[in-house]
Amino acid sequence: MVKLTGSPESLRRQNRTNVLNCILNHEAIDRTQLALETGLTTTAITRITRELIEAGILETGAKSPLKSGPGRNRTKLKFAPDNTFVIGINFAAWERQMVLANLKGEVIAYLPFQLSNPQDSEQTLVEISNMVDRFIDLQNIKRHRILGVGFAIAGIVNSIDGRLDSSPYLGWQNVEIGKTLSESLGLQVAVENLNNIIAMAETRYGCCAKKKDVMLVRVGPGLGGSFLFDGKLARGNSFQAGQIGHIPVVKDGILCACGQKGCLNTIASGWSILADLKLSVPPASSPLRLVNDGILLEDVINRAKNGDKVVERAAFKSGHALGQMLSGLYQALAPEVILTVGPIAEISSYVDGIISAASENNINLPLFTPEDQKFKSVASSAALHGLSEFLFSPRFRLTDLMPNISIQAGPDLRETSP
Ligand SMILES: [Zn+2]
Repeated sequence: MVKLTGSPESLRRQNRTNVLNCILNHEAIDRTQLALETGLTTTAITRITRELIEAGILETGAKSPLKSGPGRNRTKLKFAPDNTFVIGINFAAWERQMVLANLKGEVIAYLPFQLSNPQDSEQTLVEISNMVDRFIDLQNIKRHRILGVGFAIAGIVNSIDGRLDSSPYLGWQNVEIGKTLSESLGLQVAVENLNNIIAMAETRYGCCAKKKDVMLVRVGPGLGGSFLFDGKLARGNSFQAGQIGHIPVVKDGILCACGQKGCLNTIASGWSILADLKLSVPPASSPLRLVNDGILLEDVINRAKNGDKVVERAAFKSGHALGQMLSGLYQALAPEVILTVGPIAEISSYVDGIISAASENNINLPLFTPEDQKFKSVASSAALHGLSEFLFSPRFRLTDLMPNISIQAGPDLRETSP
Protein backbone atom coordinates (compact mmCIF):
# COMPACT_ATOMS: atom_id res chain seq x y z
CA MET A 1 0.00 0.00 0.00
CA VAL A 2 1.13 3.55 -0.73
CA LYS A 3 2.39 5.51 2.27
CA LEU A 4 -0.07 8.16 3.37
CA THR A 5 1.14 11.74 3.24
CA GLY A 6 -0.30 15.06 2.09
CA SER A 7 -3.58 16.95 2.44
CA PRO A 8 -6.80 15.39 3.82
CA GLU A 9 -8.22 15.37 0.28
CA SER A 10 -5.19 13.56 -1.15
CA LEU A 11 -5.23 11.07 1.76
CA ARG A 12 -8.91 10.42 1.14
CA ARG A 13 -8.24 9.76 -2.54
CA GLN A 14 -5.28 7.54 -1.70
CA ASN A 15 -7.35 5.50 0.77
CA ARG A 16 -10.02 4.98 -1.87
CA THR A 17 -7.34 4.00 -4.40
CA ASN A 18 -5.91 1.46 -1.96
CA VAL A 19 -9.37 -0.04 -1.39
CA LEU A 20 -10.06 -0.28 -5.15
CA ASN A 21 -6.69 -1.91 -5.84
CA CYS A 22 -7.20 -4.35 -3.00
CA ILE A 23 -10.56 -5.41 -4.47
CA LEU A 24 -8.92 -5.72 -7.91
CA ASN A 25 -6.38 -8.17 -6.48
CA HIS A 26 -9.12 -10.36 -5.03
CA GLU A 27 -12.07 -10.09 -7.43
CA ALA A 28 -14.37 -10.39 -4.41
CA ILE A 29 -13.53 -9.53 -0.81
CA ASP A 30 -15.43 -8.73 2.39
CA ARG A 31 -15.07 -5.51 4.39
CA THR A 32 -13.23 -7.10 7.32
CA GLN A 33 -10.55 -8.48 5.01
CA LEU A 34 -10.36 -5.11 3.22
CA ALA A 35 -9.71 -3.36 6.54
CA LEU A 36 -7.01 -5.89 7.41
CA GLU A 37 -5.22 -5.57 4.09
CA THR A 38 -5.44 -1.79 3.67
CA GLY A 39 -4.76 -0.90 7.32
CA LEU A 40 -7.87 1.33 7.37
CA THR A 41 -10.46 1.21 10.16
CA THR A 42 -13.65 -0.77 9.54
CA THR A 43 -15.57 2.52 9.88
CA ALA A 44 -13.49 4.03 7.06
CA ILE A 45 -13.92 0.90 4.94
CA THR A 46 -17.69 0.98 5.50
CA ARG A 47 -17.85 4.61 4.37
CA ILE A 48 -15.60 4.18 1.33
CA THR A 49 -17.33 1.03 0.10
CA ARG A 50 -20.77 2.61 0.63
CA GLU A 51 -19.75 5.54 -1.57
CA LEU A 52 -18.41 3.17 -4.23
CA ILE A 53 -21.66 1.15 -4.16
CA GLU A 54 -23.72 4.34 -4.45
CA ALA A 55 -21.56 5.40 -7.38
CA GLY A 56 -22.25 2.08 -9.12
CA ILE A 57 -18.61 0.96 -9.02
CA LEU A 58 -19.09 -1.87 -6.52
CA GLU A 59 -21.86 -4.35 -5.87
CA THR A 60 -22.45 -6.82 -3.08
CA GLY A 61 -22.05 -10.43 -4.03
CA ALA A 62 -22.25 -13.80 -2.30
CA LYS A 63 -22.01 -14.14 1.47
CA SER A 64 -18.66 -15.30 2.74
CA PRO A 65 -18.79 -18.40 5.01
CA LEU A 66 -16.86 -16.38 7.61
CA LYS A 67 -18.86 -14.60 10.33
CA SER A 68 -18.40 -10.89 11.02
CA GLY A 69 -20.35 -11.08 14.29
CA PRO A 70 -22.74 -13.40 16.05
CA GLY A 71 -24.82 -15.10 13.36
CA ARG A 72 -23.86 -12.66 10.58
CA ASN A 73 -22.08 -13.80 7.45
CA ARG A 74 -19.72 -11.34 5.82
CA THR A 75 -20.83 -9.97 2.44
CA LYS A 76 -18.36 -10.05 -0.40
CA LEU A 77 -17.83 -6.93 -2.50
CA LYS A 78 -16.94 -6.95 -6.17
CA PHE A 79 -16.89 -4.63 -9.16
CA ALA A 80 -20.20 -3.95 -10.89
CA PRO A 81 -18.88 -4.62 -14.38
CA ASP A 82 -21.50 -3.27 -16.77
CA ASN A 83 -22.26 0.05 -15.17
CA THR A 84 -19.12 2.04 -15.82
CA PHE A 85 -16.93 2.11 -18.89
CA VAL A 86 -13.65 3.19 -20.41
CA ILE A 87 -12.58 3.84 -24.00
CA GLY A 88 -9.32 2.58 -25.52
CA ILE A 89 -7.84 3.94 -28.75
CA ASN A 90 -4.96 2.45 -30.71
CA PHE A 91 -3.45 4.92 -33.16
CA ALA A 92 -0.67 2.83 -34.72
CA ALA A 93 0.74 2.90 -38.24
CA TRP A 94 -1.48 0.30 -39.85
CA GLU A 95 -3.90 -0.66 -37.11
CA ARG A 96 -6.33 1.95 -35.84
CA GLN A 97 -9.26 1.08 -33.69
CA MET A 98 -11.27 2.11 -30.66
CA VAL A 99 -12.98 -0.07 -28.09
CA LEU A 100 -15.46 0.41 -25.27
CA ALA A 101 -14.61 -1.78 -22.28
CA ASN A 102 -16.23 -2.45 -18.91
CA LEU A 103 -14.59 -2.40 -15.48
CA LYS A 104 -13.21 -5.90 -16.04
CA GLY A 105 -11.51 -4.66 -19.20
CA GLU A 106 -13.86 -6.77 -21.32
CA VAL A 107 -14.48 -5.26 -24.76
CA ILE A 108 -18.15 -4.42 -25.29
CA ALA A 109 -17.86 -2.62 -28.63
CA TYR A 110 -15.12 -2.30 -31.19
CA LEU A 111 -14.61 0.05 -34.15
CA PRO A 112 -11.71 0.03 -36.64
CA PHE A 113 -11.29 3.48 -38.19
CA GLN A 114 -9.62 5.28 -41.09
CA LEU A 115 -8.39 8.86 -41.26
CA SER A 116 -8.43 11.14 -44.27
CA ASN A 117 -4.96 12.62 -43.75
CA PRO A 118 -3.05 11.17 -40.75
CA GLN A 119 -0.06 13.49 -41.33
CA ASP A 120 -2.24 16.52 -40.43
CA SER A 121 -2.40 16.41 -36.61
CA GLU A 122 -5.05 19.13 -36.19
CA GLN A 123 -7.49 17.61 -38.67
CA THR A 124 -6.80 14.07 -37.38
CA LEU A 125 -7.62 14.94 -33.77
CA VAL A 126 -10.90 16.57 -34.86
CA GLU A 127 -11.78 13.44 -36.87
CA ILE A 128 -10.91 11.12 -33.96
CA SER A 129 -12.95 13.24 -31.56
CA ASN A 130 -15.99 13.15 -33.87
CA MET A 131 -15.63 9.38 -34.30
CA VAL A 132 -15.46 8.85 -30.53
CA ASP A 133 -18.62 10.97 -30.11
CA ARG A 134 -20.49 8.86 -32.69
CA PHE A 135 -19.09 5.66 -31.16
CA ILE A 136 -20.41 6.65 -27.71
CA ASP A 137 -23.82 7.66 -29.14
CA LEU A 138 -24.21 4.21 -30.69
CA GLN A 139 -23.63 2.37 -27.40
CA ASN A 140 -26.75 3.45 -25.57
CA ILE A 141 -24.86 4.37 -22.39
CA LYS A 142 -24.76 7.56 -20.35
CA ARG A 143 -21.71 9.64 -21.15
CA HIS A 144 -21.02 10.45 -17.49
CA ARG A 145 -20.53 6.72 -16.87
CA ILE A 146 -17.37 6.79 -19.01
CA LEU A 147 -14.27 7.18 -16.84
CA GLY A 148 -12.06 8.40 -19.67
CA VAL A 149 -9.99 7.48 -22.68
CA GLY A 150 -6.68 5.58 -22.86
CA PHE A 151 -4.80 6.56 -26.03
CA ALA A 152 -1.90 4.51 -27.45
CA ILE A 153 0.43 6.03 -30.03
CA ALA A 154 3.83 5.04 -31.44
CA GLY A 155 6.16 7.88 -30.52
CA ILE A 156 7.80 9.72 -27.67
CA VAL A 157 5.06 10.79 -25.28
CA ASN A 158 5.14 13.07 -22.27
CA SER A 159 2.54 11.00 -20.45
CA ILE A 160 2.26 13.51 -17.58
CA ASP A 161 0.65 16.21 -19.72
CA GLY A 162 -0.45 13.99 -22.64
CA ARG A 163 1.79 15.75 -25.16
CA LEU A 164 3.34 13.87 -28.05
CA ASP A 165 6.93 14.99 -28.35
CA SER A 166 7.47 13.32 -31.71
CA SER A 167 6.19 10.46 -33.82
CA PRO A 168 8.49 9.72 -36.77
CA TYR A 169 5.96 7.64 -38.71
CA LEU A 170 3.36 10.41 -38.57
CA GLY A 171 5.77 13.31 -38.84
CA TRP A 172 4.02 14.89 -35.83
CA GLN A 173 5.99 17.02 -33.40
CA ASN A 174 4.94 18.64 -30.16
CA VAL A 175 1.21 17.89 -30.40
CA GLU A 176 -1.05 18.38 -27.36
CA ILE A 177 -3.08 15.20 -27.94
CA GLY A 178 -4.36 14.80 -24.37
CA LYS A 179 -5.44 18.42 -23.88
CA THR A 180 -7.05 18.73 -27.32
CA LEU A 181 -9.05 15.49 -27.11
CA SER A 182 -9.98 16.03 -23.49
CA GLU A 183 -11.43 19.49 -24.27
CA SER A 184 -13.36 18.35 -27.33
CA LEU A 185 -14.71 15.15 -25.73
CA GLY A 186 -15.29 16.46 -22.22
CA LEU A 187 -13.55 13.31 -20.90
CA GLN A 188 -10.21 12.65 -19.21
CA VAL A 189 -7.64 11.37 -21.72
CA ALA A 190 -4.43 9.48 -20.86
CA VAL A 191 -1.91 9.39 -23.74
CA GLU A 192 0.92 6.88 -23.57
CA ASN A 193 3.48 5.25 -25.82
CA LEU A 194 2.10 2.10 -27.40
CA ASN A 195 4.86 -0.22 -26.12
CA ASN A 196 4.44 1.11 -22.59
CA ILE A 197 0.68 0.54 -22.80
CA ILE A 198 1.14 -3.11 -23.83
CA ALA A 199 3.78 -3.71 -21.13
CA MET A 200 1.66 -2.13 -18.38
CA ALA A 201 -1.57 -3.90 -19.40
CA GLU A 202 0.12 -7.33 -19.43
CA THR A 203 1.94 -6.63 -16.16
CA ARG A 204 -1.13 -5.41 -14.37
CA TYR A 205 -3.87 -7.59 -15.78
CA GLY A 206 -2.34 -10.16 -18.14
CA CYS A 207 0.41 -12.71 -18.70
CA CYS A 208 3.02 -10.88 -16.57
CA ALA A 209 0.71 -10.34 -13.58
CA LYS A 210 2.55 -10.55 -10.26
CA LYS A 211 5.87 -9.91 -12.05
CA LYS A 212 7.63 -6.70 -11.10
CA ASP A 213 10.59 -6.54 -13.46
CA VAL A 214 9.40 -6.86 -17.01
CA MET A 215 11.10 -6.14 -20.32
CA LEU A 216 8.97 -5.84 -23.45
CA VAL A 217 10.29 -5.98 -27.00
CA ARG A 218 7.90 -5.33 -29.87
CA VAL A 219 9.06 -6.56 -33.23
CA GLY A 220 7.42 -5.13 -36.34
CA PRO A 221 9.18 -3.37 -39.24
CA GLY A 222 11.23 -1.74 -36.46
CA LEU A 223 12.02 -2.65 -32.85
CA GLY A 224 10.58 -0.95 -29.78
CA GLY A 225 10.86 -1.65 -26.09
CA SER A 226 9.50 -0.92 -22.67
CA PHE A 227 10.89 -1.60 -19.18
CA LEU A 228 9.20 -1.94 -15.82
CA PHE A 229 11.33 -2.05 -12.70
CA ASP A 230 9.73 -2.92 -9.37
CA GLY A 231 6.36 -2.57 -11.10
CA LYS A 232 7.06 0.97 -12.31
CA LEU A 233 7.58 2.12 -15.85
CA ALA A 234 11.09 3.35 -16.63
CA ARG A 235 10.48 6.41 -18.78
CA GLY A 236 14.05 7.63 -19.00
CA ASN A 237 15.28 11.17 -19.51
CA SER A 238 12.70 13.16 -21.53
CA PHE A 239 10.51 10.04 -21.89
CA GLN A 240 13.06 8.53 -24.32
CA ALA A 241 13.57 5.08 -22.72
CA GLY A 242 12.75 1.96 -24.71
CA GLN A 243 14.26 2.75 -28.10
CA ILE A 244 16.19 -0.48 -28.38
CA GLY A 245 15.96 -0.47 -32.18
CA HIS A 246 18.53 2.33 -32.23
CA ILE A 247 21.18 0.65 -30.08
CA PRO A 248 24.36 0.77 -32.23
CA VAL A 249 25.62 -2.77 -32.91
CA VAL A 250 27.44 -2.83 -36.27
CA LYS A 251 30.33 -0.46 -37.01
CA ASP A 252 29.75 1.28 -40.37
CA GLY A 253 26.67 -0.90 -40.86
CA ILE A 254 23.51 -0.28 -42.86
CA LEU A 255 21.86 3.13 -42.63
CA CYS A 256 18.93 3.33 -40.15
CA ALA A 257 15.99 5.73 -40.47
CA CYS A 258 17.35 7.65 -37.44
CA GLY A 259 20.39 8.71 -39.49
CA GLN A 260 22.91 6.47 -37.69
CA LYS A 261 24.51 3.39 -39.22
CA GLY A 262 24.38 -0.15 -37.83
CA CYS A 263 21.47 0.23 -35.37
CA LEU A 264 19.86 -2.99 -34.05
CA ASN A 265 16.95 -2.24 -36.43
CA THR A 266 19.25 -2.96 -39.39
CA ILE A 267 19.92 -6.60 -38.36
CA ALA A 268 17.18 -7.75 -35.97
CA SER A 269 13.85 -6.24 -37.09
CA GLY A 270 11.11 -7.13 -39.55
CA TRP A 271 12.84 -4.74 -41.94
CA SER A 272 16.08 -6.77 -41.76
CA ILE A 273 14.12 -9.89 -42.79
CA LEU A 274 12.67 -7.98 -45.75
CA ALA A 275 16.13 -6.67 -46.70
CA ASP A 276 17.57 -10.21 -46.51
CA LEU A 277 14.85 -11.34 -48.90
CA LYS A 278 15.62 -8.34 -51.18
CA LEU A 279 12.13 -6.95 -50.58
CA SER A 280 13.14 -3.62 -49.02
CA VAL A 281 16.05 -1.18 -49.14
CA PRO A 282 17.82 1.07 -46.59
CA PRO A 283 17.32 3.10 -44.53
CA ALA A 284 16.06 0.48 -42.09
CA SER A 285 12.59 0.89 -40.57
CA SER A 286 11.89 4.07 -42.52
CA PRO A 287 8.65 5.79 -41.44
CA LEU A 288 8.01 6.58 -45.11
CA ARG A 289 7.81 2.89 -46.00
CA LEU A 290 6.20 1.69 -42.79
CA VAL A 291 2.78 0.89 -44.28
CA ASN A 292 4.25 -0.70 -47.41
CA ASP A 293 6.79 -2.76 -45.44
CA GLY A 294 3.98 -3.77 -43.08
CA ILE A 295 2.01 -5.23 -46.00
CA LEU A 296 5.12 -7.05 -47.32
CA LEU A 297 5.73 -8.43 -43.83
CA GLU A 298 2.23 -9.90 -43.64
CA ASP A 299 3.08 -11.98 -46.71
CA VAL A 300 6.50 -12.94 -45.28
CA ILE A 301 4.89 -14.03 -41.98
CA ASN A 302 2.44 -16.25 -43.89
CA ARG A 303 5.31 -17.78 -45.88
CA ALA A 304 7.17 -18.55 -42.64
CA LYS A 305 4.07 -20.11 -41.10
CA ASN A 306 3.76 -22.30 -44.21
CA GLY A 307 7.32 -23.58 -43.77
CA ASP A 308 9.13 -21.48 -46.44
CA LYS A 309 12.78 -22.36 -45.65
CA VAL A 310 14.24 -19.17 -47.17
CA VAL A 311 12.04 -16.98 -45.00
CA GLU A 312 12.65 -19.18 -41.95
CA ARG A 313 16.42 -18.79 -42.35
CA ALA A 314 16.14 -14.99 -42.68
CA ALA A 315 13.85 -14.83 -39.63
CA PHE A 316 16.19 -17.04 -37.59
CA LYS A 317 19.15 -14.78 -38.47
CA SER A 318 17.27 -11.63 -37.36
CA GLY A 319 16.02 -13.36 -34.20
CA HIS A 320 19.58 -14.46 -33.45
CA ALA A 321 20.75 -10.82 -33.65
CA LEU A 322 18.03 -9.79 -31.19
CA GLY A 323 18.92 -12.73 -28.91
CA GLN A 324 22.50 -11.51 -28.79
CA MET A 325 21.33 -8.07 -27.60
CA LEU A 326 18.78 -9.55 -25.16
CA SER A 327 21.54 -11.67 -23.59
CA GLY A 328 23.38 -8.47 -22.69
CA LEU A 329 20.26 -6.64 -21.52
CA TYR A 330 19.26 -9.67 -19.44
CA GLN A 331 22.63 -9.71 -17.70
CA ALA A 332 22.49 -5.96 -17.04
CA LEU A 333 18.85 -5.55 -16.00
CA ALA A 334 17.83 -9.04 -14.73
CA PRO A 335 14.14 -8.94 -15.74
CA GLU A 336 11.83 -11.66 -14.42
CA VAL A 337 10.30 -11.94 -17.85
CA ILE A 338 11.11 -10.77 -21.38
CA LEU A 339 7.87 -10.43 -23.31
CA THR A 340 8.26 -10.38 -27.09
CA VAL A 341 5.21 -9.08 -28.96
CA GLY A 342 4.37 -7.89 -32.46
CA PRO A 343 3.91 -9.70 -35.78
CA ILE A 344 7.52 -10.86 -36.24
CA ALA A 345 7.64 -12.42 -32.76
CA GLU A 346 4.88 -14.75 -34.03
CA ILE A 347 7.37 -16.41 -36.41
CA SER A 348 8.67 -19.48 -34.59
CA SER A 349 12.04 -19.48 -36.36
CA TYR A 350 12.58 -15.86 -35.23
CA VAL A 351 11.98 -16.91 -31.61
CA ASP A 352 14.23 -19.97 -32.16
CA GLY A 353 16.95 -17.51 -33.25
CA ILE A 354 16.56 -15.51 -30.01
CA ILE A 355 16.77 -18.66 -27.86
CA SER A 356 19.72 -20.01 -29.84
CA ALA A 357 21.82 -16.83 -29.40
CA ALA A 358 21.05 -16.74 -25.68
CA SER A 359 21.98 -20.38 -25.17
CA GLU A 360 25.30 -19.77 -26.99
CA ASN A 361 25.90 -17.27 -24.17
CA ASN A 362 24.80 -19.88 -21.61
CA ILE A 363 21.72 -17.86 -20.82
CA ASN A 364 18.23 -19.25 -20.45
CA LEU A 365 16.06 -16.22 -21.18
CA PRO A 366 12.70 -16.02 -19.31
CA LEU A 367 10.97 -15.51 -22.65
CA PHE A 368 7.24 -14.95 -23.25
CA THR A 369 5.94 -14.80 -26.83
CA PRO A 370 2.71 -13.44 -28.40
CA GLU A 371 1.08 -16.80 -27.59
CA ASP A 372 1.34 -15.91 -23.89
CA GLN A 373 -0.03 -12.39 -24.39
CA LYS A 374 -3.49 -11.98 -22.86
CA PHE A 375 -4.58 -8.81 -24.67
CA LYS A 376 -4.13 -9.30 -28.40
CA SER A 377 -5.52 -5.88 -29.35
CA VAL A 378 -3.60 -2.73 -28.43
CA ALA A 379 -6.91 -0.84 -28.15
CA SER A 380 -8.02 -3.13 -25.31
CA SER A 381 -4.65 -2.59 -23.59
CA ALA A 382 -5.26 1.16 -24.04
CA ALA A 383 -8.66 0.77 -22.35
CA LEU A 384 -6.94 -0.99 -19.43
CA HIS A 385 -4.50 1.91 -19.25
CA GLY A 386 -7.55 4.17 -18.95
CA LEU A 387 -8.81 2.04 -16.04
CA SER A 388 -5.41 2.22 -14.30
CA GLU A 389 -5.30 6.00 -14.70
CA PHE A 390 -8.91 6.92 -14.03
CA LEU A 391 -10.16 4.28 -11.57
CA PHE A 392 -7.23 2.61 -9.83
CA SER A 393 -5.37 5.85 -9.10
CA PRO A 394 -6.00 8.99 -7.04
CA ARG A 395 -7.12 10.65 -10.29
CA PHE A 396 -10.42 8.79 -9.89
CA ARG A 397 -13.21 11.37 -9.47
CA LEU A 398 -16.17 9.72 -7.80
CA THR A 399 -18.44 12.72 -8.25
CA ASP A 400 -18.01 12.67 -12.06
CA LEU A 401 -19.98 9.43 -12.12
CA MET A 402 -22.88 10.97 -10.20
CA PRO A 403 -23.20 14.51 -11.60
CA ASN A 404 -26.24 15.34 -9.44
CA ILE A 405 -24.81 14.24 -6.09
CA SER A 406 -22.01 15.81 -4.13
CA ILE A 407 -20.23 13.40 -1.80
CA GLN A 408 -19.17 14.70 1.59
CA ALA A 409 -16.29 12.84 3.13
CA GLY A 410 -16.19 12.44 6.89
CA PRO A 411 -13.00 12.56 8.91
CA ASP A 412 -13.11 8.78 9.30
CA LEU A 413 -11.91 8.46 5.69
CA ARG A 414 -8.65 10.01 6.71
CA GLU A 415 -8.00 7.60 9.52
CA THR A 416 -5.78 4.57 9.47
CA SER A 417 -5.73 1.74 11.95
CA PRO A 418 -3.12 1.98 14.65
ZN1 LIG B 1 18.59 3.91 -35.64
